[in-house]
Amino acid sequence: MALAFDEYGRPFIILREQEQKTRLRGLDAQKANISAGKAVARILRTSLGPKGMDKMLQSPDGEVTVTNDGATILEQMDVDNQIAKLMVELSQSQDYEIGDGTTGVVVLAGSLLEHAERLLERGIHPIRVAEGYEMASRIAFDHLQHISQKFEFGLDNIEPLVRTCMTTLSSKIVNRCKRDLAEIAVKAVLAVADLERKDVNLDLIKVEGKVGGKLEDTELVYGILIDKDMSHPQMPKRIEDAKIAILTCPFEPPKPKTKHKVDIDTVEKFQTLRLQEQKYFDDMVQQCKDVGATLVICQWGFDDEANHLLMHRNLPAVRWVGGVELELIAIATGGRIVPRFQELTPDKLGKAGIVREKSFGTTKDRMLYIEHCANSRAVTIFIRGGNKMMIEETKRSIHDALCVARNLIRNNSIVYGGGSAEISCSVAVEAAADKYPGVEQYAIRAFADALDSVPMALAENSGLQPIETLSAVKSQQIKENNPHCGIDCNDVGTNDMREQNVFETLIGKQQQLLLATQVVKMILKIDDVISPSDF
Ligand code: ADP
Repeated sequence: MALAFDEYGRPFIILREQEQKTRLRGLDAQKANISAGKAVARILRTSLGPKGMDKMLQSPDGEVTVTNDGATILEQMDVDNQIAKLMVELSQSQDYEIGDGTTGVVVLAGSLLEHAERLLERGIHPIRVAEGYEMASRIAFDHLQHISQKFEFGLDNIEPLVRTCMTTLSSKIVNRCKRDLAEIAVKAVLAVADLERKDVNLDLIKVEGKVGGKLEDTELVYGILIDKDMSHPQMPKRIEDAKIAILTCPFEPPKPKTKHKVDIDTVEKFQTLRLQEQKYFDDMVQQCKDVGATLVICQWGFDDEANHLLMHRNLPAVRWVGGVELELIAIATGGRIVPRFQELTPDKLGKAGIVREKSFGTTKDRMLYIEHCANSRAVTIFIRGGNKMMIEETKRSIHDALCVARNLIRNNSIVYGGGSAEISCSVAVEAAADKYPGVEQYAIRAFADALDSVPMALAENSGLQPIETLSAVKSQQIKENNPHCGIDCNDVGTNDMREQNVFETLIGKQQQLLLATQVVKMILKIDDVISPSDF
């Protein structure tokens, strides 16, 4: 692309291979971008809320995902329009920062775009629209703070946390078990949380899944779970007060690194070699026993002879444990990873209250539980479910619930869900619009209307009349001065979200507003789109 000047000194752009590019300018560019953004939002709109629909996506290699999570749907959709990609990133940034509300943020952005389009058609300059949106989002942001409530909970009173996680899970496929899963998520977060610093390291929570069983069998393990079993079926299945040697060296005679040749020409020599080899194994097992290990966890395998010997000498062992798991075990049990048998010392052993092997189903499916570890801060959520798709979706839902619990520990303010916070903000923004004398007033009103799209989508997805329901709830909010009225999606009989226990975190909701406004402003400010044409 080059900038040139005509004979009157007016600049113009020369595009390389001009005929191969398409170019959209001004209002056309904005409209094209807006419609791309709206298209993405329209896809997610039907997934919002407890009665939202799920999407089935098939990857190029045939793997099928069924999900209700906005970020996942967009991630797996192969979009090639740049503006649509912005919407995908919007959902992902909500996911990175907050973890929940990924559908809502896209629905809100889509609706902001839709209302902006109408203003542009009426001749309002995009910059004025963007500025009006910015003002409105600040009003709504402050209003959220105003209507938020502090949410008290403690280690002996986890019920409030559980209820918030249940709101998140109620719109997922797994909502059948939302109580159990919410409890698991909250307990897991509290186990690794640092309540003084108000921080949670989610890396310490490992989420594992195994096909089989029911969703109800999902459990929280205070320790580590590895998909391995004891190397010999006759080894003990349960070891109490285990002292674990964590090894990255194989149970086999060392092989010289250089090329070598051993000449064996007599029976005696063969016997000596055999005895020598046996001694190696013997020494290795002895070294483990000498330091007091009662369990050996090995990154490598060992052959039948070593296995037999280990069994014989009463030293249970697990083989072929992956590097990442080995590290986790070392962290949790307070042990050290040992690369050579000579380096084994008693203080390098990891300690765990119980190590047990559990078998599942009728197949030879076994897993090893390492529980009550010295450093008990690592926990594992073990998900069971009918098929892989279900397990993957449960993992995503649990992730959202974990994030919600973490956000509440960081900041315990909440707002009510079911669209009630949006309606309340919409009323506040609408009221504030009159105070602005400029053209921005229109944009601020449009913002208020756009906020209504979230409760409307919730109502629509629940089979209610969107406009009638929204206007009834809105007038109720104004009449009763009660910001907790929302959409009664599940037909419980009350639309007071406080009674229905539908909460969302304040920071999550505020982040939705900020992110959606930012992206929409960015899209509105693009007035020239230069792209390679399709042919
Ligand atoms: P997201 O990915 O944005 O979290 P969801 O599909 O989880 O999207 O839907 C969340 C929306 O559903 C929020 O606005 C929340 O307030 C609302 N919601 C969740 N549970 C209920 C309920 N029981 N009644 C009404 N609204 C609910």
